[in-house]
Amino acid sequence: MTEQNPFEMAQKQLDECAAILMLDKDVHELLRHPMRELHVSIPVRMDDGSTRVFQGFRVQYNNALGPTKGGIRFHPAETIDTVRALAAWMTWKCSLLGLPLGGGKGGVICNPKALSETELERLSRAYINQVWQFIGPDKDVPAPDVYTTPQVMAWMMDEYSKLAGRNTFGCITGKPVCIGGSCGREDATARGGMYTIREAAQELGLNLKNATVAIQGYGNAGCNAAFLCKELFGATVVAVSDSKGGAYDKNGLNLESVCGYKAATRSVVDSPHTEVITNEELLELEVDILIAAALENVITERNAGNIKAKLLAELANGPTTPEADKILYENGVHVIPDFLCNAGGVTVSYFEMVQNISMYCWGIEEVYERLDKKMTAAYRSVLDASRGYGINMRQAAYVVAVDRVVEAMRLRGWV
Ligand code: GLU
Repeated sequence: MTEQNPFEMAQKQLDECAAILMLDKDVHELLRHPMRELHVSIPVRMDDGSTRVFQGFRVQYNNALGPTKGGIRFHPAETIDTVRALAAWMTWKCSLLGLPLGGGKGGVICNPKALSETELERLSRAYINQVWQFIGPDKDVPAPDVYTTPQVMAWMMDEYSKLAGRNTFGCITGKPVCIGGSCGREDATARGGMYTIREAAQELGLNLKNATVAIQGYGNAGCNAAFLCKELFGATVVAVSDSKGGAYDKNGLNLESVCGYKAATRSVVDSPHTEVITNEELLELEVDILIAAALENVITERNAGNIKAKLLAELANGPTTPEADKILYENGVHVIPDFLCNAGGVTVSYFEMVQNISMYCWGIEEVYERLDKKMTAAYRSVLDASRGYGINMRQAAYVVAVDRVVEAMRLRGWV
């Protein structure tokens, strides 16, 4: 079976929503495609003196609600269709959270693990060189995503500032705190997801203190989620995984030990006192909560029927295909859909933009409190729509988000 094209998957999800909302044909058509996209070739001088040319993209999907916003991924399997899908999901994410932002996304086809620190810096700066006139604080504001870090954001902000001839901290978010980053941005995606899990658990009557959790993906979102599940809920994390495989202990993992092992070896596989499991096995474990925090397309019609978790929290973007969605719904698995569950990252990015504009720095408690309010309100609006329309949580999230974008387009006279 061939993998589903993520952009076709995003369009299919939108088509379902268009039918529920009975959208006019022209409105639906406008929302099915990106508003604008840029393809760039990026020459980078390598450490050995040779030059390599990388391919990069920036997609601005829809800016009816405000400047487009969304991360930049550095990944060897990046494609324009993946970036298009991710830019669409950012549009719905910002809308759902009530942020005055549209949706965008960027990507570069590269393997950052095979680049030296200096090559990574030159690639980050060169990407900005190619796209800087296309982005900016009131146009399009990038941020971290898969394999891009606060350090990468710092280089990018510096490059943009040099080209613009002035310090422009607001051109990018997810920066280190001492150069205009926000407190709490580092673990915001995971923390925001935790607030939605808390709400969902209440709904399901699930006691989080006794809950078992499996987490697929051990990047920024997955790793922080593991620690927060323990810290905020006292839940037991029994399995985690990364691109090489997983580590399992039915009595609960020692997260500090797994984390230290990963830092030393670049993988959680074979971490002391754990059993090795595959990513596929992890998804099908007998746990209360499954957190998908890796990449798109991992829960499909092939394995959806084997998922035993009561609650699926999608910290990744696009982990579940529309066919799998139907199976999960029929089997009573409660899904917190991606652009709700992982919206904590962009929400604190938005807080970062507000702080940059006002030259002010909020304390951590203020960030947590505001994030909790936004995530909780978004979760409840989706749950209400799900009940009101008798539709699943993803369709409900779409209904709330798309409706707002359509209203903005109408008020602006686009449709
Ligand atoms: N890359 C993150 C996402 O997919 C954050 C985007 C942002 O902070 O703008 O939501």
